[in-house]
Amino acid sequence: VFSGILSCENPDSRLMEASFLTRPTPKIEALLAKMTLEEKVGQMAQVTLDVITKGESVYVSNEPLELDITLVKEAILDHKVGSILNTANNRARTPEQWNAIVSEIQDIAVNQSRLGIPVIYGIDAIHGTTYTAGATFVPQQIGLAATWNRDLVRRGAEITAYETRASGIPWNFSPVLDLGRDPRFPRMWETFGEDTYLASEMGKQMIKGYEGQKNDVSKPTKVASTLKHFLGYSVPYTGKDRTPAHISEMELRERHLPTFQAAVEAGAHSVMINSGIINGIPVHANREIITNLLKGELGFKGVVVTDWKDIDNLHFRDKVAATRKEAVKMAINAGIDMSMIPYDYDFCTYLVELVKEGEVSMERIDDAVRRILTLKDELGLFEQPVTSLADYPNFGSKDFELAAYDVASEAITLLKNDGILPLRKGSKILVTGPNAHSMRTLNGGWSYSWQGEKVEEFAGSYHTILEAIQSQAGASNVEFVEGVAYNHEGKYWEDEVKDLDAVIAAAKRADYVVLCLGENSYTEKPGDLHDLSLSANQLNLAKAAASAGKPVILVLNEGRPRLISSIEHQMQGVLQTYLPGNYGGDALAAVLFGEVNPSGKLPYTYPMFGNTLVTYDHKPSEEQNKMEGMYDYESDFAVQYPFGFGLSYTEFDYSDMEFSRGSIDPDETLSISVSVTNVGNVEGKEVVQLYISDLFASVTPDVKRLRGFEKISLKPGETTRVSFEISARDVAFVARDLSWTVEAGEYEVNIGELKSRFSITESKTFNQVKKIL
Ligand code: BGC
Repeated sequence: VFSGILSCENPDSRLMEASFLTRPTPKIEALLAKMTLEEKVGQMAQVTLDVITKGESVYVSNEPLELDITLVKEAILDHKVGSILNTANNRARTPEQWNAIVSEIQDIAVNQSRLGIPVIYGIDAIHGTTYTAGATFVPQQIGLAATWNRDLVRRGAEITAYETRASGIPWNFSPVLDLGRDPRFPRMWETFGEDTYLASEMGKQMIKGYEGQKNDVSKPTKVASTLKHFLGYSVPYTGKDRTPAHISEMELRERHLPTFQAAVEAGAHSVMINSGIINGIPVHANREIITNLLKGELGFKGVVVTDWKDIDNLHFRDKVAATRKEAVKMAINAGIDMSMIPYDYDFCTYLVELVKEGEVSMERIDDAVRRILTLKDELGLFEQPVTSLADYPNFGSKDFELAAYDVASEAITLLKNDGILPLRKGSKILVTGPNAHSMRTLNGGWSYSWQGEKVEEFAGSYHTILEAIQSQAGASNVEFVEGVAYNHEGKYWEDEVKDLDAVIAAAKRADYVVLCLGENSYTEKPGDLHDLSLSANQLNLAKAAASAGKPVILVLNEGRPRLISSIEHQMQGVLQTYLPGNYGGDALAAVLFGEVNPSGKLPYTYPMFGNTLVTYDHKPSEEQNKMEGMYDYESDFAVQYPFGFGLSYTEFDYSDMEFSRGSIDPDETLSISVSVTNVGNVEGKEVVQLYISDLFASVTPDVKRLRGFEKISLKPGETTRVSFEISARDVAFVARDLSWTVEAGEYEVNIGELKSRFSITESKTFNQVKKIL
């Protein structure tokens, strides 16, 4: 039984739940009392070793792996810096190297600085400990969401926490709780997809995996998590990264806020702010969003950190601050606690001046520093500034590998099967395409390096799709002709045709063609794209492969849904792997040959055309009215594959939907149960999805909304009953006065093919809020 609720009625109960960081401790107060203004301001600065003094070098640096101790001493001893983040000079380090680096840093902070305050080290370990060689990589978040399996998502985060701490690093800049509602956005794959409820549920599991059930991050196997990027980052105006967004407050609150709210309630220790501009106001300068909404309304007690150089950006990019000093004043007064990349320490100089001039209050500084020191204390850094690698015998263990493989297996989503899958052993297979023989494409960005291009250095330890198919099918049964290759020296999206005639000839010799298309790795601005369609070269390869007349199975290995409508009808099978990590090739091969029955479901709507980029939870249009003959209704929301869709090698039948009662009042709950039977011949996993449609409301309701899901496993012929608890609060929406509201009336429930209605007897407003936009 599962209870889906994004409740926020009682702020007091929220504070109780997030019991950490709620009260200043005598230890931290005593420390604060000893600190000079310069020491306090230093705690609020976070530098990276790669660019401690030089602006941009991090992106190009291939410098040696050793630590430049002079720079570290300058940061910690001269500028009193309290936090370091590091992108590893754009390559992976071993856990031993990481541990040694963090130890050296902590030695300087703890043994050589006046007050001996440890540094807090942060990193983007977003799908495993991704800057540590030999660490266990799980799928990227979009693949985690596709499992619709809460336990697997939590397990993946537990492994990441363990291996990150083994590397000496206690603070993780993950998870991303922005919604992936626009496939033009180059960071869509870093999200849990388009749905608020699915992303909230997965986000909570990720927090619990990173921080533990009780958020006791002093445990040496846990890390502090970071919710990012608060708030409204993922819907930029042009779809390209960090272009100014326009979002209504109703949309912001109903759609984008609940994922963060659920994670704050789950006890997350830190939040990173959205780099962008919403309705003309940069979020880093928006006191309503940072202080009133996050710290006030949501009751967040942890640390608020900027994104990369974003105080600087208020002046240089966003043009709301005429000087850099004014930018510092705006951001700190808006509620920022820590500045990531404080540009040559000017941040510290300006902030000291601003306090002396009375432009920033000492209370604000103390509040920020108290939050930072409390985080360090909660992490146990005062007692044990760095972990000892010897305490982590499971780093890179077989158990972890198997768990990562399981996650990848459950992520893979079968989108089309003309009876061709699973493949017969012993058949002749042509493997082709630029994604067939690449570890880089399986992992995506933030893997060993920011853009993921360093992955190939460790490729030998894992299997590409080609290698995994060879090991399943026997190498002599598999032919490989690449057909199209990525141009690794150029832009990430550039690819070039090798030899299409060779592909056609090889396809004629084969029984099946496994065509591996998609994207090369990327993230952030370098991942911007002009055209969502698969590249012309890849589409031509698909057409060439299909022209041989043999069945073609299209394997998509991509961070976002690239348009395939011009070739899809020529494919007999389609599988989505997302960015499944180091074991994604093995998992895919197991699915192709039926060793694993696919159970992934799309966490987003796969669009059909560039002009129908839609989400499933849209408002109704002419399509609903079915005024046939007047318009081409279907094209309003034409999709390639719908949200929540994914096939199995078996079939499931839904029956006997029952409600515990036919109507509820606004404070009551209702049980909804349904029977699910595996009516096929093989064991399989099914995601039971519960959608509710509000039939009439004062704000046009979305056609339907996901309000519950449960993943179950059934043997052939087996039946189980699945129950959901739904409260009236679960179907509330943000009304025109911005309050969460439920309205009296009828609601339609939809599970599988089954539909039934219940009613809510009275209307109710759950909470009143202050306008933030
Ligand atoms: C990204 C963040 C990331 C930070 C630190 C920024 O550019 O937007 O998601 O955590 O860099 O690496």
